[in-house]
Amino acid sequence: MPIYEYHCSQCDRNFEYLVIGKSKPECPACHSKEISRMISACGFISKESGGETVRSSGSSCAGCSTTSCKGCGH
Ligand SMILES: [Zn+2]
Repeated sequence: MPIYEYHCSQCDRNFEYLVIGKSKPECPACHSKEISRMISACGFISKESGGETVRSSGSSCAGCSTTSCKGCGH
């Protein structure tokens, strides 16, 4: 399943969202729907944790499992 990176225009925060079916992403911080999708080089995540959790990109890169991914700008 694809992981998309979004930017919340409400609180100016980036986060990643696993799109499941028709679920609509919202900001994990302020639950705003005013978000825009971003192009991410780290667009995919491993299935280590079942893959159904929404991850915010606060301190770690969901794409490469490190705390500082220079490749994708996190
Ligand atoms: Zn927000």
